[in-house]
Amino acid sequence: MPRPLSATIHTAALANNLAVVRKYAPKSKIWAVVKANAYGHGLARAFPGLRATDGFGLLDLEEAVKLRELGWAGPILLLEGFFRPTDIDVIDRYSLTTVVHSDEQMRMLEMARLSKPVNVQLKMNSGMNRLGYTPEKYRAAWERARACAGIGQITLMTHFADADTPRGVSEQMATFERGAQGIAGTRSLANSAATLWHPSTHFDWVRPGIILYGASPSGFSSALEGVGLQPAMTLASELIATQHVAEGQTVGYGSIFTARKPMRIGVVACGYADGYPRVAPEGTPVIVDGVLTHVVGRVSMDMLTVDLTPVHSAGVGARVELWGNNLPIDDVAKACGTIGYELMCAVAPRVPVRAE
Ligand SMILES: *Cc1c(COP(=O)(O)O)cnc(C)c1O
Repeated sequence: MPRPLSATIHTAALANNLAVVRKYAPKSKIWAVVKANAYGHGLARAFPGLRATDGFGLLDLEEAVKLRELGWAGPILLLEGFFRPTDIDVIDRYSLTTVVHSDEQMRMLEMARLSKPVNVQLKMNSGMNRLGYTPEKYRAAWERARACAGIGQITLMTHFADADTPRGVSEQMATFERGAQGIAGTRSLANSAATLWHPSTHFDWVRPGIILYGASPSGFSSALEGVGLQPAMTLASELIATQHVAEGQTVGYGSIFTARKPMRIGVVACGYADGYPRVAPEGTPVIVDGVLTHVVGRVSMDMLTVDLTPVHSAGVGARVELWGNNLPIDDVAKACGTIGYELMCAVAPRVPVRAE
């Protein structure tokens, strides 16, 4: 028998979440963002649930090729562009669309030998200060792209830093409009947060990632109330042992938890080597036998321990949900001081994953 830990990918939830995006941005096409192995869900496993999209956005050439091999003939966008001249051969061969965010990339495209022009998304740095041309240099970059024989369609693109915070998008939108003034062309601006909360950013293409997987861009599960998203991944395991602990006894490495009364502890087959965060403090939510309880003691490599006080009946073999259908990944992430994105991306290769 393998360890009882596994992740389940909910294909119907992915399809539902894509439909939710369509409802929010009915006039836009969708780049379904599947970078980082579909946010940890597995590209091949996520693909069937998302195939009603208009295009896929990702980072690695290898993942782009894999999508083609899965039978996807539609648009694929390289969200960071490319890194070396030889990457352009792959872009050409597999008909990929690429971000262009720098003169180095522009120059590589000017020098490339291509069988046909490459469609590009010309990225403006509208305030995030990671990638892209400044608003002042944007028009010149666009003219240079237009003059490049190797470049086909040019979409105007930027990325928001605060679409999920009270700061919002207005400042970056104004900067974008200033830099893009008088430039015709389709536009691609909105990440998940902007797709949900800033309709003025939708334009021709939206680029949602996290909401396709049913988690919140802001890190607060409450922010998704009424939106209609469903979790695309459930991470579940079982109790492999229980312990009676007397008052004053401790649990696990570092003895960081001391029982204040006699209690039962459940030992779950899931640890930080499976991707569960070691930093998860006492109180991090866990569901055992359908009942909400929480982590006690330090998460170890292959196991974690939970308080069985609210679940008197739970014994070895009891089902444990670490996150998923009954426990928002955002709530687990919040307790750990991070966001759902990081937890789903961190599920370790040793965890068996199946799609349903
Ligand atoms: C990752 C990414 C997205 C998707 O972001 P979410 O917050 O997951 O919606 C959109 N655009 C770009 C350029 C990205 O890198």
